[in-house]
Amino acid sequence: MDKKLVLEQIEKNVKVCKKCRLYKFAKNPVPGEGNPNAQLVFVGEAPGATEDATGKPFVGRAGKLLEALLKEIGMQRSDVWIGNVIKHRPPQNRAPLEDEIVACAPCLTLQLKAISPKLIVTLGRFAMTYFYKEGKITRDHGHVIKTPDYTVFPVYHPAAALRNPVFAKALREDFNKIPRILKELSTQSAQRAPSSETEDTSGQVGLGL
Ligand code: SF4
Repeated sequence: MDKKLVLEQIEKNVKVCKKCRLYKFAKNPVPGEGNPNAQLVFVGEAPGATEDATGKPFVGRAGKLLEALLKEIGMQRSDVWIGNVIKHRPPQNRAPLEDEIVACAPCLTLQLKAISPKLIVTLGRFAMTYFYKEGKITRDHGHVIKTPDYTVFPVYHPAAALRNPVFAKALREDFNKIPRILKELSTQSAQRAPSSETEDTSGQVGLGL
């Protein structure tokens, strides 16, 4: 089935989903959006106030920063797919509860299966630990992590970067690594030589960075 059609069907399902309590508090679902053929996917935690109001992911100040950083590496929003682990905004921006994560996870899994990106950039601690439970954002940001199912690249959340210049600097430096990582992943898949990766016990993968 066509990727676009699969994603549209998932979006329809999100709009009527009542698998957890969060739909009751939100103005709009935010299923995620972007290029169905994207090599690069961004995943954040959950919609914020602007996203809840519009039904679109990363459209507030953090979204503007994300777009500016994409531009710096020669990409634009239409090149990538952007979504969140949780599709309805938790009340008062509280952290998602474990049962809400479990209820919502299959949706993101299906979206990622449809898109099949080369690289998932996780935005912030929550999204990183969703893919890699042992992760520590201060230690692991800017490093490629190979999980059983995905290649993940954790970075600081743009909202954190807007609050803290240290995080902003780290976010920009990590973003600048993305084109090279994508190139190396493309080369690796073309050569079908996964043994060239030097995996260590932390789950991080050496990509010459
Ligand atoms: S947050 Fe996810 S699981 Fe909960 S109602 Fe929304 S789409 Fe369904």
